[in-house]
Amino acid sequence: MTGTGPTLFSPPGTPGYAEAGASFQLAAPVDPAGAFTARSIGDVVRAVAAARRAGLPLRVSTTGHAMGRTGPLTGSLLLRPLIDAAVRVDPDSRTARVPAGRTWGDILPEATRYGLTALHGSSSGVGVIGYLLGGGLSFYGRRFGLAANLVRSLTVVLADGEVVEASATCRPDLFWALRGGGGGFGVVVEAEIELIPMHRVLTGMAVWDPADVARLAPAWQAWARDAPREVTTSFRLLSLPPLPSLPPYLAGRRVVALDGAVTVSAESDLPAARRVLDEMLSPLSALAPPVANTWALAPPQALPLTHLDPLRPVPFDSDSALVREIDAAGWAGALDAGPGLTAFELRQLGGAFGVSPPYGGVLDHLAAPLLYHGVGVAGEETARELGAVRAALQPFLTGYTAPNFVAHVAKPQRTHDNHTRVRVERVRLAVDPTGLFAGDVAPTLDAPPP
Ligand SMILES: Cc1cc2nc3c(=O)[nH]c(=O)nc-3n(C[C@H](O)[C@H](O)[C@H](O)COP(=O)(O)OP(=O)(O)OC[C@H]3O[C@@H](n4cnc5c(N)ncnc54)[C@H](O)[C@@H]3O)c2cc1C
Repeated sequence: MTGTGPTLFSPPGTPGYAEAGASFQLAAPVDPAGAFTARSIGDVVRAVAAARRAGLPLRVSTTGHAMGRTGPLTGSLLLRPLIDAAVRVDPDSRTARVPAGRTWGDILPEATRYGLTALHGSSSGVGVIGYLLGGGLSFYGRRFGLAANLVRSLTVVLADGEVVEASATCRPDLFWALRGGGGGFGVVVEAEIELIPMHRVLTGMAVWDPADVARLAPAWQAWARDAPREVTTSFRLLSLPPLPSLPPYLAGRRVVALDGAVTVSAESDLPAARRVLDEMLSPLSALAPPVANTWALAPPQALPLTHLDPLRPVPFDSDSALVREIDAAGWAGALDAGPGLTAFELRQLGGAFGVSPPYGGVLDHLAAPLLYHGVGVAGEETARELGAVRAALQPFLTGYTAPNFVAHVAKPQRTHDNHTRVRVERVRLAVDPTGLFAGDVAPTLDAPPP
């Protein structure tokens, strides 16, 4: 394939190529020159050496949830790390060692058997390592902060083939840059993460008629501002397809949906958690009675079911931004701008999301009160509506994005100020001086002026 003799990388049209290139995001082309699934750390080291020998850029993808966020794969070699090793939970130290290739759905059954859970996101299908490298926004986040802050160490195969450990005490600069620095430092083959005690969660979805959204949205925002840290929510205008698996009040309908979680770390927390839930739902229900409400006590492993993220691959387009509080005129414009979107979403930030802990990575907190995320089926209509929502939200944009929510290389995205970017770049240059992994670096593209 590359003219360098036998290679690990399978050429296009082979089963090995198809396996390594499988992607959740069907709207992004997956057309590398060759693709390889690494089953061991040794495989990863061999793949890095083979890419260097071939003189081709090496790209890393696990599940492809973010396929398209960085530049095209054309002319590169694609490595899928799917390390054949078990997830190891240590209940005494409350940690888990997670080999690359695992999704949150692989971790939760192991952790919850000890009364522990992880700061996973809304979907169990997302890859653990990719999520952590982008910060990681969890429905536990207002209490515990970004998931990347609970990473203890990362084992990385660097561009020269060396296998190194990055932690607070070992290569601290690399450890800092890996956690939110935008990728392109090497192949992470294992992460050690802290787990959190979690007895139960209050989780579910309250659903309203879309006609009520103009009253509900500002009221939710006002509640969200000073809400207790135990609760993290997502407010959406949601239009799901008419799937038989969905309840009738959601299937094929446009609704207002409020979902998320209230933490119940120990049984004794339950009365306070119920009060938090009631203080959220009662005022909203007084404004407009919900057509359905499934919020209830559940085991922590049920939380990834709440947000109804698709688990099968889909072709999607999305946009996102960290936003300031939206005023009445802003709500009026934004709520009407994307009638065909699958979701117009605002995720509640604040609480521990806004706090920098000691020893965090380069992305260790999010200063904005809200994250906007719009998503729809890829196509011209969705692109037009996402543009219209962005225009309506323009006065409220902070100029920054949460990297995990950026779906396309050409979308506005900025995680750090210029000074911090230079610091990150210095670390990247030290570990990858020839730019073997440069294709995986997320660009910084500021939004054009309105
Ligand atoms: C349906 C859905 C729900 C989501 N929900 C949330 C959420 O609640 N909270 C949140 O924070 N994010 C969420 N995300 C975003 C998700 O966390 C990011 O897209 C994340 O980057 C996905 O990681 P991945 O490994 O699954 O994807 P991939 O596309 O495989 O990888 C994403 C990036 O991570 C890099 N990468 C992955 N594995 C490695 C590795 N082993 N070594 C080095 N680099 C690696 C890749 O190079 C790539 O640039 C969601 C995304 C989708 C599509």
